[in-house]
Amino acid sequence: MEFDLGWILLGLPLAFVLGWLASRFDLRQLRAENRRAPKAYFKGLNFLLNEQQDQAIDAFIEAVQNDPDTCELHFALGNLFRRRGEYDRAVRVHEHLLSRGDLEHSDRERAQHALALDFLKAGLLDRAEDALHRLEGTALEAQARLALLAIYERSRDWPRAAGIARKMHGADQGDFSTRQAHYLCEQALALTDLPAAQALLEQAIHAAPEAARARIELARLQRLMGQPDALLATLKTLAAHNPAALPLAAPLMVEAASATGRVAEVQELLQAHYAQAPSLDVLESIVLLETTDEATRATARQRYVQHLDKERSLVATAKWLATEKLEHEEFHPQIERALEHAVKPLLRYRCAACGFEARRHFWQCPGCQTWDSYPARRVEEL
Ligand SMILES: [Zn+2]
Repeated sequence: MEFDLGWILLGLPLAFVLGWLASRFDLRQLRAENRRAPKAYFKGLNFLLNEQQDQAIDAFIEAVQNDPDTCELHFALGNLFRRRGEYDRAVRVHEHLLSRGDLEHSDRERAQHALALDFLKAGLLDRAEDALHRLEGTALEAQARLALLAIYERSRDWPRAAGIARKMHGADQGDFSTRQAHYLCEQALALTDLPAAQALLEQAIHAAPEAARARIELARLQRLMGQPDALLATLKTLAAHNPAALPLAAPLMVEAASATGRVAEVQELLQAHYAQAPSLDVLESIVLLETTDEATRATARQRYVQHLDKERSLVATAKWLATEKLEHEEFHPQIERALEHAVKPLLRYRCAACGFEARRHFWQCPGCQTWDSYPARRVEEL
């Protein structure tokens, strides 16, 4: 007992002295490192401010060798270069990060993702694709798959895009059913084998029953294949499931009605739709179906004036005036031309995401690449 107590009495001051010495040593080493590291940073910063980016990268890489906790600085630098469009420099920074043995697992994945974005922005799609595939099974998998989707869409590789969308949908990484339907439609449109195209469109309807596009494309195909009854049936399902998209299919409705002889039935359907949502395209189709000769033309035209009670529409005004007898008939062509010119921009479709306007309706905006961003209504009706 006494022996043990003696050791403790002797050991305690000794341990204290050793601990103090060790802390002094650590502190001195840390100070030395800290002195070295800022020097390299300032050198790098100086190069960066003097627009000597390559020297700056070298200096920062040197700094990082002395201090392994500087990967955030590298990420910031890499992103800065990418934003400035200096992709080779961004790639160099991110590749250096990836080559470091001491990088944490999550930072390695971040660097891999950043590298993929560099390649993507630089337009090196093959290399971007390769870099993104390496992120399968990581925490950044969903982001990588989204980027892959963008690549396949850009290169119009619809089967591969469909594969990724299927995977994401299955892995609860978002609702990709509408996107899958679009890819199937795109594949169908590229086919010359019409029955095969029809099979794909039916698959698309099955994938996203609430999406309008597949039904409209199927209706167009049925018109091409000379199947008016099937065409009308498809359009009636469209009117029931996707009434908002009916204006896009209104001209097809007119064709289906004439081809099947079921004009009254289609008129009723269009008028019911128009009563719910007065649309210019549906109105136009109603007028077309009503006009069979000179006598009916006059009454059908009155619908344009009635439309003005609901909407202050220049388009409807121009359409009514076009066939109206004016007192000064000799000036009619000039007035008509001027009105036509004023009306043209109002008949465009406009992307709700970026405002890009086009004469025809797009399912994917050519400006911002967003899907389903074009409403089925003309600019004047928005
Ligand atoms: Zn857009």
